[in-house]
Amino acid sequence: MVFRTFLLKYGEIGIKGKNRGQFEDALVLQVRHALEKVEGDFEVSKEQGRIYVNVLGEDDSFDADEVTAALQKVFGLVGICQVLKAPVADPEQIAEDAIRYIAKTYGLTPVSSEESADGDGAAQPGAAGDASFGQNVLTFKVHTRRANKHYPMNSMEVDALVGEQLLEAYPGKMKVDVHQPDIMVYIEIREEVFIYSKIVPGPGGMPVGTNGRAQLLLSGGIDSPVAGWMIAKRGVALDATYFHAPPYTSERAKQKVVDLAKLVAQYAGPIRLHVVNFTDIQLAIYDRCPHDELTIIMRRYMMKIAERFAAKDGSMGLITGESIGQVASQTIQSLVCTDDAAGMPVFRPLIGFDKQDIIDLSLKIGTYDTSIQPFEDCCTIFVAKHPVTKPRLDIIKRSEEKLKDIIDALVEKAVEEAETIRIS
Ligand code: ATP
Ligand code: MG
Repeated sequence: MVFRTFLLKYGEIGIKGKNRGQFEDALVLQVRHALEKVEGDFEVSKEQGRIYVNVLGEDDSFDADEVTAALQKVFGLVGICQVLKAPVADPEQIAEDAIRYIAKTYGLTPVSSEESADGDGAAQPGAAGDASFGQNVLTFKVHTRRANKHYPMNSMEVDALVGEQLLEAYPGKMKVDVHQPDIMVYIEIREEVFIYSKIVPGPGGMPVGTNGRAQLLLSGGIDSPVAGWMIAKRGVALDATYFHAPPYTSERAKQKVVDLAKLVAQYAGPIRLHVVNFTDIQLAIYDRCPHDELTIIMRRYMMKIAERFAAKDGSMGLITGESIGQVASQTIQSLVCTDDAAGMPVFRPLIGFDKQDIIDLSLKIGTYDTSIQPFEDCCTIFVAKHPVTKPRLDIIKRSEEKLKDIIDALVEKAVEEAETIRIS
């Protein structure tokens, strides 16, 4: 027996009142998108405030762990449950199904196996246990929800009956514990009956596409992919801009950013990645402006260029991985100067994070190993030994005057010649 249905739980979007349907549709869309990359044929449906994934192909056409892993990247989901689905039947039949469910999921053998084990549905020791049982007793509690009010037995009666049958089927192996059970056996009686006990946590957040679009300034570092992930988690679709400086930065450095964009896209959906050749602008700043102001001035032009792509892509804000005080270019005074260059809101979700918090998050979302590959960043090449830590906007603007005769043309050229890579 293979459980061919997944019940998906969602949190915050459930409370969106009139917009609920729209949010659910966006979530269904993202679930479908996530499953496109998973082997197997799936049908995604929305019923009564629940989303279900049904496997259409053969039992061995899919890998449940792979399905779950893909769904764990869909923002908006809070729980993923592989369920036993059966037609609505009398309570004894539901109890039989619960016995089969436990046999399959926890590798236990029921005593009265003539009704409960249907050949391959029998015990598979160690097959799927999330605890190692051996001599241990599996404590449980049954929790029934009866959404189908025509069902002849109420939920407490179903709890009692199923609990009793489980004890009879697994004497000495299962025990009721209503306070701290090892497992909750959930039974939902709806248009069909669903039985499950494992709820794999989803990432939470809101479905991508429900909160507009923003442009991520994506470098090859640790911070910016995490920043993009955090904003996407709030339902914002992403595009990205990366500045490189060939021949000072390599093709490998660019590939690293493409790889990072792919990792972020696993959560955020398709991303347009604009790769901007920043060399001439950096050289001009280097030639004409005070070296201790290089990074700030460079950052300001990054903002201006990213904003051009934001406008093209339909984005309403920029995203950076900045955090207060992390480096000289991220002091409050520096952030004021950078912010001034942008004409649209700049979202800095990591603003109050310690570096270690950011590293922990990057490990969790899977970008860390790529981020720490040692390829040079365009900013480190032209970096000053002693950058200003308290730049003044009026002074920075005066320094930028020295670029007046060339900078517009250079920006224009950089925007026009940028390469756009579609990441999906
Ligand atoms: P990250 O790890 O994201 O590179 P960082 O700690 O190295 O951050 P900075 O190099 O000061 O910090 O960059 C601050 C922010 O500016 C980055 O988080 C990113 O959003 C943006 N940024 C920096 N360099 C680039 C680049 N080459 N291309 C695009 N955006 C960049
Ligand atoms: Mg960086």
